[in-house]
Amino acid sequence: MGDNQKTVKNAVCTFCGCVCDDIELSVDLDEKRITKATNACSLGRAWFIEHKVEDYPYALIDGKEASVEEAVEAAAQIFVNAKFPSIYGLSDTTCEAQKQAVAIADYLNANIDTTTSVCHGPTGMAFQGVGESTASLGEVKNRADFVMYWGGNPAEAHPRHFQRYAVSPKGLNIPNGKEDRTIAMVDIRKTQSASVSDIFLVIKPGSDFELLWAMRALVKGAKFDEKAVEEKTNIAIEVVKDLVEKMKACQFGVIFFGMGLTMTRGRHFNAGALLALTTDLNQFTHFVAAPTRGHGNVTGADNVVSWQTGYPFGISFNRGYPRFNPGEWTTADVLARGEIDALCTIATDPGSNFSRPAIEHMKKIPIISLDPKPTVTSQMAKVAFTTATYGVNVPGTVYRMDNVPLSLRPAFESPYPSDEEILIAIKERICELRGISVTGNKNTSALTAA
Ligand code: SF4
Repeated sequence: MGDNQKTVKNAVCTFCGCVCDDIELSVDLDEKRITKATNACSLGRAWFIEHKVEDYPYALIDGKEASVEEAVEAAAQIFVNAKFPSIYGLSDTTCEAQKQAVAIADYLNANIDTTTSVCHGPTGMAFQGVGESTASLGEVKNRADFVMYWGGNPAEAHPRHFQRYAVSPKGLNIPNGKEDRTIAMVDIRKTQSASVSDIFLVIKPGSDFELLWAMRALVKGAKFDEKAVEEKTNIAIEVVKDLVEKMKACQFGVIFFGMGLTMTRGRHFNAGALLALTTDLNQFTHFVAAPTRGHGNVTGADNVVSWQTGYPFGISFNRGYPRFNPGEWTTADVLARGEIDALCTIATDPGSNFSRPAIEHMKKIPIISLDPKPTVTSQMAKVAFTTATYGVNVPGTVYRMDNVPLSLRPAFESPYPSDEEILIAIKERICELRGISVTGNKNTSALTAA
């Protein structure tokens, strides 16, 4: 261990959407590594402590080492020569970088899409169709006496969600923490999260919509075929009635929902049914609903892309103005149909998880990749940049899963540029090549020779 140590208090963990901002980092500045991450869960500790500045090339063009400037030129040329380029990823970078990515898509009349399209995309569609009754996680901590998780497993995916926000913390109106709360869960199997639940309903796979609609009928006092619902969901109707009565009787209820609801049969209809149930419950008490988000700044991506285009993901600028159509403009789909002729990926690796037709098309088109480490996608890329890691090396803004923005407190500097710096440089070169004036844009390139 070197002599040059520092401590970063209230650092922000960007490993998951909980974005815990109470982490204390011990940093060895000589060795450029974090030696301790107090308060972080096991996932957060691994995120910080396993972060090392490796000796990767700054940039590669066709697999050969290149300077950042050469790679910026090559990336800009790919973009301006493409007829239908697409930019994808963005959920593991800062809002400042996301903003630059939207600007590039706008200048190029390109597509822009985020990883929301393959996780909570159906939720984004349901928000637009049904609306959203929402609250911050601080309100949940201080007020919620009924907490439900539907189709998610926070114990493994968001390990501090229970402890920091929704199950065990003591709050203003919840002085005894867990003792003052009823915890209910709905899933297709008992998960590790079940140990904190008071009520756990194991439903038949693919029956979320029917159960939610039956609960809506019970809240509203409407008649329905109880036997059919029992058969479809595998839950006795008396159990559902008891659950609904508890929900109506609470002071402040919240339903957190995960991809077990949004990425199964029914998708945006499921999310819409849950949001409609939440609205119905507000005739009796205060009830809110919120998706549990995976990536550290996927919520920021939704916010930034929405500020600038009016829509959260799956957007095409190809008519000169933004159009939103999931399934048509979402990256997995434009790739699988072989439509786009260039792809830029930012902090994401679709080459390792998209469908076979999408990956086959990726092999045929030029890819520009920005990532802190080599990935399957960066190895397929014509131009690959190594970037600094947000939160660990790069300051900026991220959004917690409840849409609360937080400022990052990085631990040490990286030799690599940030996503934002590279995107600004590419944007400026695109504007030069296209003869577009960027006068008045304060975000100018900060890249230095690498
Ligand atoms: S819960 Fe998520 S944000 Fe919080 S420390 Fe663990 S991984 Fe990091």
